[in-house]
Amino acid sequence: MRSEESSTVAVKDTLHHVLTVEDPKGFRNFLLNNTTYSLGRSLDNTIILRSNLVSRQHAVLLAIANLKDKSYIFRIIDGSHSGTRSTNGILVNGKKRLSHVLAHGDQILFSKDTRAVYQIVSTLSKTPIYKSPKNNNINTDTLAGQLLGNSHFVQYSPLQAIAERDLPLRIRDTINQFKASPEINSQPIIELNLVGKILYLNPAVLSQFPDLDSFGLNHPLLKELLLQLIPLVNPVQNIFVREVAINGKVFEEVIHFMPWNEVIRIYVSDITKQKQAEAIISYQIHYDSLTGLPNRKYLQEYLVKLVKTAQPPLPRFAIVLLDINCFKLINDSLGHSVGDLLLQAVGDRLKEILRADDLLVRWGGDEFAIVVQNIDSNDAASQIAESIIQSLTLPFSCVGHELHITTSVGASIYPDHGNRVESLVDNADMAMYRAKTEGRNSFQFYIPNMQEQSFQRLAMENNLRRALDNEELETYYQPQIDLTTGQIVGVEVLLRWKHVTLGSISPSKFIPLAEETGLIIAIGNWVLRQACLRAIAWQELGLPPIQIGVNLSIKQLQQKDFLVSLKQILDETNFDPHYLELEITEGIMMNQVEAKVILLNQFREMGIKLSLDDFGTGYSALSYLKNLPIDTLKIDRIFIEYITHNEHDRVIVSSLINLSHSLGLTVIAEGAETQEQVDLLRVLGCDQVQGFIFYKALSADEIECLLRAQGGTKPCDLDIQ
Ligand code: C2E
Ligand code: CA
Ligand code: CA
Repeated sequence: MRSEESSTVAVKDTLHHVLTVEDPKGFRNFLLNNTTYSLGRSLDNTIILRSNLVSRQHAVLLAIANLKDKSYIFRIIDGSHSGTRSTNGILVNGKKRLSHVLAHGDQILFSKDTRAVYQIVSTLSKTPIYKSPKNNNINTDTLAGQLLGNSHFVQYSPLQAIAERDLPLRIRDTINQFKASPEINSQPIIELNLVGKILYLNPAVLSQFPDLDSFGLNHPLLKELLLQLIPLVNPVQNIFVREVAINGKVFEEVIHFMPWNEVIRIYVSDITKQKQAEAIISYQIHYDSLTGLPNRKYLQEYLVKLVKTAQPPLPRFAIVLLDINCFKLINDSLGHSVGDLLLQAVGDRLKEILRADDLLVRWGGDEFAIVVQNIDSNDAASQIAESIIQSLTLPFSCVGHELHITTSVGASIYPDHGNRVESLVDNADMAMYRAKTEGRNSFQFYIPNMQEQSFQRLAMENNLRRALDNEELETYYQPQIDLTTGQIVGVEVLLRWKHVTLGSISPSKFIPLAEETGLIIAIGNWVLRQACLRAIAWQELGLPPIQIGVNLSIKQLQQKDFLVSLKQILDETNFDPHYLELEITEGIMMNQVEAKVILLNQFREMGIKLSLDDFGTGYSALSYLKNLPIDTLKIDRIFIEYITHNEHDRVIVSSLINLSHSLGLTVIAEGAETQEQVDLLRVLGCDQVQGFIFYKALSADEIECLLRAQGGTKPCDLDIQ
C-alpha cells in the first residue's frame, strides 16, 4: 500500500506533478503547478475531460502544502468546487473515493472511457511520461509544450468594477509612480485604446512577457479583455479588476479606463503566491488535518447549500452522527498517537462502506458525521447506520494494539426532522445522545418528542434515586457450572430493577445512568452487602459453599474510599472474603494502570478473587493478562455465540484458554446457549460455563433450592428451565 508519506518524500527532490489524461479524443499531459484544478466535461473546467460519460464538473484537484519542506502534494476530490458530487464518482486504483491524496502512479478512472495517471517527475525532459496500454501512441504534447501556453491553461475571472479607494495599496503606489516615471516601474504596465491598439508597454512588460508585443491582443494577458470590458465601461465606473491564470501562474490585472482620452491602462501583478496561500488556507479551514476528511465547517456550508438549493419535491437526506464510546480512555492510556491512528483508521473504514455520493466528515474529537443523500425511506438510513456500527465492531490494529471500539449513532432526516441546518444537526445530536444512553453500538433516529424524552430520562434518574429506598432493586444470581463435574461452583450477582409502572428494567439500561449520575456508588455498595448477606444465609443453611461474583463499575473503583467501604461491608456482614469474586472490566486498565494494580493487589491480599469480565468486547490486550493480578478470565458472549460455526472465534477462544491456563487463571465462558457450544468448550479445556443453556439469573430462593439438591439434602423440584 502506498502511504501519503511516500508521495511527500517524492516531492522533496522532484518538482513536477503531472497528470496524464486519456479520453476518447486522445492523451494530454498537464503539468500541475497551480493550487486548484477543476476537471470535467464542461468547457469552463481547467482540465476538460472530452467524454460524454463524465460529469460536467467531475472532480477537483487541490494542492496541499507541506509546510515543513515547502513541497506540496495533490488531493483529488470527487465533484465540483462547490461540493456537488459527480454522477458516477471516481475510482482511484480501482477503489471508489470521495477524496484521496494522490501518490506517484495512481490511476484515476472518471468513466469507462476517461482516465488519468498521476506522476511526479524530476525533470521536464523525462516526457513522454505515460503510454497507453491499449495503443502505443506516445503523446506529442510535451510538458514543455504545456508550459509555453495551451488554451487549457488560460483562465479568466469575470471583470469586476472596483472603486478607486478600494484599490490594493500596491496598485495605488504604482499609479502614483506611473505618473512620475513609468519607465522605471517594476510592475508591468500596458496601455491600449478601445479598438485594441497597444499604445504603450513599459520595460517591465517587455522583460516579463517578451512575447506580448508579438502576440498583441492574442496574448493571454489581453485576450478577451476588450470583450469583457466594453459592455461595462462608463465615465463613472472606470476601474476594473480581473484575474488571469496562465500556465499555473495567476495574474491580477487592474484595468483603468480613462474616459477623457479613451485609453485603457492595465497594471499587472503576479498574485500566484497569494492565490496559493488562499487555497491552502481555505483547505485548512475546511479539512481536518489528521484524517484529511472535510471538517465541521465544510459540512455546515455543504448542508446550507444543499438545503438552499433543494426544490420540491424535496430530496430526502440523512445526517448521521457517530461517536466513539470511551475514546478518551484509549487516548489517556495508550497515548494520543495511538488515539490519532485509531481515528484515521475509523475514518478509512467508514470511507470504504459509504456510497460515492455520501459525505463523510470529521465532526470533531471522536465524532464523525455522514450525510447520506437520496434516501427513499427511514429504513435506508437505518440500514446504513447499522452497517456503520457493524463495520466498526471489527477490531482495529494500531501499532501492535488490537483495539475494539463501540459506537453510538444518531440520525435526523431532511425535511422530516427539520428544514434548517441547525435544527437538523441538533436533532441528530440529540438522537446520538439518546443512543449513548441505550448502551453500546446503538442507533437512534431523532423522534420529534425527544426533548420530552430527556425529561423522561430525568424522571428515570429521580426514580432510580428512589428505587434504592423503595426496595425496587433486587439481586438475582446466575449459576456458573464446572464443566468437568457439572456442579454449580459459583454464581454471578445480577441486578434487577422492578419498577412499579415500567416493570423489570434491564441493568444495561440503568447502570449507565447510575454511573453518569454517581448513583452507582450507593447502588454498588447495596449490591455488595446484599450478596454477602445472601451467601452467608446459604452457608448458615449448611449448603455447599460457592463463589459469589459481584460486578464492579469503574466508577466504584475510582472512588477514593472504595477499599474502606468494601472492608466495612465484609466486617459488618462477617463474610469470608475468600468466597467473594469481584468482576472488573478491561476498561479499568485504560488509565492510571499502576494505581489500579496496587488497589487490585490490596483486594487479593484480603483474600478476594478477581475476574476480568467481558473479555473481548473492550480493549482486549493479551499482554495485560500477564500483568494483571486476576484469578479468572470471563470470555465474552460475542466469542461464544458463533464458536461452533466460526473457525476464527474458535481459534481465539482456544488460544485464550491455553494462555489463561499457562498464567494459572480459571476460564469462564459467558453466554453459552447450546449443547454444541458446551461440548466444544469442554473439548477446548474451558473450566466453567455461565449461560442460558444451564440457567438464567435466578432468585435467591431458586438458588437455595438448587444448592440443596446439589448438596444431596433435598431434590429441587422448582421449574427452573
Ligand atoms: P455481565 O456482567 O456481562 O453479565 C452477564 C449478562 O449476560 C447478564 O445480563 C446475563 O443475564 C446475560 N447472559 C448470561 N448468559 C447468557 C446467555 O446464555 N445468553 C444471553 N443472551 N445472555 C446471557 P444482565 O443481567 O442483563 O446484565 C447486563 C449487564 O449489566 C452485566 O453484564 C453487567 O455489566 C451489568 N450489571 C448487572 N448487575 C450489575 C451490578 O450489580 N453492578 C454493576 N456495576 N453492573 C451490573
Ligand atoms: Ca459480569
Ligand atoms: Ca460479562
